[in-house]
Amino acid sequence: MPPPAPPAPPAPPAPPAAEEPPRRAVLVIEDEPDLALTLVYNLKKAGYEAWAEGTGAGGLARAQERSPDLVLLDLMLPDTTGFEVCRALKADPRTAGAPVLMLTARGEELDRVQGFEVGAEDYVLKPFSVRELLLRIKVILRRAAQAEGAPAPSDEVRLGALALNLASHQAWVEGEEVALTLLELKLLATLVARRGKTQSRAALLADVWGYGAGVTAELETRTVDTHIKRLREKLGAAGDLIETIRGVGYRCRRAPDELPGGV
Ligand code: CA
Repeated sequence: MPPPAPPAPPAPPAPPAAEEPPRRAVLVIEDEPDLALTLVYNLKKAGYEAWAEGTGAGGLARAQERSPDLVLLDLMLPDTTGFEVCRALKADPRTAGAPVLMLTARGEELDRVQGFEVGAEDYVLKPFSVRELLLRIKVILRRAAQAEGAPAPSDEVRLGALALNLASHQAWVEGEEVALTLLELKLLATLVARRGKTQSRAALLADVWGYGAGVTAELETRTVDTHIKRLREKLGAAGDLIETIRGVGYRCRRAPDELPGGV
């Protein structure tokens, strides 16, 4: 009998898991099983963690349990609509921060505006190419990461009834916390940082949404209007900090005791 082979050298230790960037997680709420499977398969292939749920109730439960980084949300679900699910996601502090990308059938243009009103980040029309969808997801997650990591001269800003913590992504009005989406926070933070100066819709689209400079198509500028409207509603007593400058864009008021140009 030949002597036993010497034991193989021990494998090099695996790098500690902490050095790996956490994988981004995407929750798919879609009742067409083939589409849901295709999406989960492609998301995983692209390096995301991904799960699918076929109902609104199942999707909400999973979102609360797993806190996904992004939600792909079908508009027509067997038990409810995507609008209702989006509204519920945005009302819950555990899930309010996850951008929602709505999946909708063609010919539902009006729904697009309604979707923004309930807090959806963006829309994708069915049928879509998976490649294009993955690109959109990448852009949205990058934008969210920038909002998280954006350097701020001061993390705490107080303006009238409004208090803003840019590091913890929290906003308060008269001491009550307001649930804002990352996009709404970025929009608000941008207006507040430039208070006293009028911002055109094109400038906001470029700096908040990351669109190329000079985008002035009506649909895009309406995106800004819908988000401002919703932001004002959420801010309640502090909503009038954001002034409409007719024909130009928006401007955040300075505090009464603030000197012009003193930011
Ligand atoms: Ca459906």
